[in-house]
Amino acid sequence: MTKKNYFQISTAIDYPSGLPHAGHMYEKICADVIARWKRLLGYKVHFSTGTDCHGLKIQRAAKKAGKNPEQFVDDMSKIFRELSKVLNISYDDFIMTTEKRHEKTVLQILNHLQKKNYIYKGEYEGIYCVDCETFYTEKNLINGKCPYHPEKEIEKVKEETYFFKLGSFQKKLIEDIKTKNLIWPKKKRIEILNRLKEPLKDLSISRTNVSWGIELPFDKKKTIAVWTDALINYLSSVDYPNKKFKDFWPAVHVIGSDIVWHHTIIWYSILLALGIELPKVVVHGFINVGGEKLSKSKGISIDPIALVNRYGADSLRYFLMRTIPFGDDGDFSEQALVERHNNELANKLGNLVSRVTTLAEKYGLEKCNNKLVKNLKLKEIEKHFENYELDKALNEIFAFIDVCNEYVQKEKLWESKDKKKLFELVDSIKAIAILLYPFIPGTSEKIAKNFGFEIKYENISKPITIKKIKKAEILFRKV
Ligand SMILES: [Zn+2]
Repeated sequence: MTKKNYFQISTAIDYPSGLPHAGHMYEKICADVIARWKRLLGYKVHFSTGTDCHGLKIQRAAKKAGKNPEQFVDDMSKIFRELSKVLNISYDDFIMTTEKRHEKTVLQILNHLQKKNYIYKGEYEGIYCVDCETFYTEKNLINGKCPYHPEKEIEKVKEETYFFKLGSFQKKLIEDIKTKNLIWPKKKRIEILNRLKEPLKDLSISRTNVSWGIELPFDKKKTIAVWTDALINYLSSVDYPNKKFKDFWPAVHVIGSDIVWHHTIIWYSILLALGIELPKVVVHGFINVGGEKLSKSKGISIDPIALVNRYGADSLRYFLMRTIPFGDDGDFSEQALVERHNNELANKLGNLVSRVTTLAEKYGLEKCNNKLVKNLKLKEIEKHFENYELDKALNEIFAFIDVCNEYVQKEKLWESKDKKKLFELVDSIKAIAILLYPFIPGTSEKIAKNFGFEIKYENISKPITIKKIKKAEILFRKV
């Protein structure tokens, strides 16, 4: 069975315990670029994002805010939806783990695992980080603190719990991760394989004293642990095990490097137990500021919505995708954003469109064979997209923008008034706009509207049919 026309992609679902930060913003943009690329190629895309609403962390945050948890997650999720809207994220589904459709899938899966004897009752004694909602062993800790939350105290937990037999999937996990090219980039795959050299411990999947969660179907005094609950969103979002799931699965999960373990070892084991094909996990890096990690307590933060208000969503999207090689950590600076906005978007792309449309409006176009567009390295750009080398795809597209700008200059089109050369340029800008659509969709749509073409991949190589052209409005105002 081939499913080559379907593509499922997800971001992690966010804890709405606090306001969205730069990490949420970056992850959504990365996934959106890939989703839009696939749609451009003609795929039917299911792109999901959402909020992870249960657990102790949320229960405590709601209490602090003086709200009941349900109201609290509803209110906070609105802010996360708004962030996606502001960033022009083209998600198809925003899923909250408090939704009935999600609960239904979770219960079905837990019952199935129980019936198949993958779950047993025992007692857990150990360390828990509430911020990660994750159990750790002494060995995982750094100076006795959670590696991701060194400023917080870890909590000791001793309670009756249900375990999932994670340990019984170790061999199969290693084999699949080694042979199936499931984890990108390679360095993350190696990291996980190294960690799999240690024997896997079975996973506690229930909590006794946490009331804010989905009840465990076979022991209603307990709730299902947050991670077990949350990971299943990728299946409930496509209505597992029904038609939508059959069409779209397996997904590509775009996640941050701090939760690779959960998405590969834990999630993969659950899926193996269910007999479901394993999804691909694509890992992006962290955003730092001035070489330092974002930190609320140190006041190192980025306000995504303020940035969009100042520079526009496209400039922010472009900056992040061009500056940070996908898969690596990267540095954010507003100064660097302004420089790229001015030098690349305004001076290169904006100027090209403005000059060419001004001349084309004045002197008209004459259809011809577009030789200029042969400088566009389309095959390489495709390859970069397929290898998740998103910054390299942008570099190639901008190399072609440089070629076009040089062409205007070299041919002195304001003197020669050559209608054929102007046609070549207009037709080339069409190709540029289509290729830039995953990164800066708002700008591409403006160009497409002015030139009258549809944003489709096959239109790159179809000559533009326009006869008259209007001078374009300014695409990027310099800051
Ligand atoms: Zn933690």
